[in-house]
Amino acid sequence: MAEAEIGVIGGSGFYSFLDDVTEVTVDTPYGRPSDSLFLGKIAGRKVAFLPRHGRGHHLPPHRINYRANMWALRSLGVRQVLGPCAVGGLRPEYGPGTLLVPDQLVDRTKARTQTYFDGETLPDGSTPNVVHLTFADPYCPTGREAALAAARGRDWEPVDGGTLVVIEGPRFSTRAESRWHAAQGWSVVGMTGHPEAVLARELSLCYTSLTLVTDLDAGTETGHGVSHEEVFRVFAQNVDRLRDVLFDAVAALPDNAARNCLCTDAHAGWDLGIELP
Ligand SMILES: [Zn+2]
Repeated sequence: MAEAEIGVIGGSGFYSFLDDVTEVTVDTPYGRPSDSLFLGKIAGRKVAFLPRHGRGHHLPPHRINYRANMWALRSLGVRQVLGPCAVGGLRPEYGPGTLLVPDQLVDRTKARTQTYFDGETLPDGSTPNVVHLTFADPYCPTGREAALAAARGRDWEPVDGGTLVVIEGPRFSTRAESRWHAAQGWSVVGMTGHPEAVLARELSLCYTSLTLVTDLDAGTETGHGVSHEEVFRVFAQNVDRLRDVLFDAVAALPDNAARNCLCTDAHAGWDLGIELP
């Protein structure tokens, strides 16, 4: 019996008032995830919450063990993941408080392991083969629809689609970088939405990103540039309604056995060389 069916990558602001939350520690062939996982129930669905940055937010984006995080979720039975994250808006109309559900991704990270299939032998002696998965559409269409409908149901009109560019961080963009991102037509910029997305695809997990704009990015705003305090303040102001949207989206997701999206056949034709958990 799976311990969880749906994963939410987010901290205590999302699970702290659920009844009967169970904390479990999970180890993986890739090391420890960011923190314990917290198991709770939403509308009868078994959900595993994982604080992406660890309790107390001690892990910067480039130090997060993304492979361990996604593997740990799958090992508990999770097959669908909702990944909320804070982002900067790259267009003036995407101001603080905007909820954007991206449909595309640009990876501008520099030093993060992006794959499970790198020839590294696992502790059980198995070695993954080289595989090249299709990633044209990085997000789960079913999960996106559930997120969009949940936001609308809470009178929070979301932006349907757009491109999330993920930078290495932990610094924010320069004005020149930010203007360049905007000039490409990209929508929002963040530091954590990748490689979560591709690792989810490699594990045949459905992955949906929900981006909350906490600030206008440096090339779009006219003030002093993005500050850490501003990001945390706006996130805190929106955490309650973001939690409501996440919970409604969880309730609307299909049973794992009923998934019929592109995420489920990502491995078609490939011999992985390893057993997924
Ligand atoms: Zn899917």
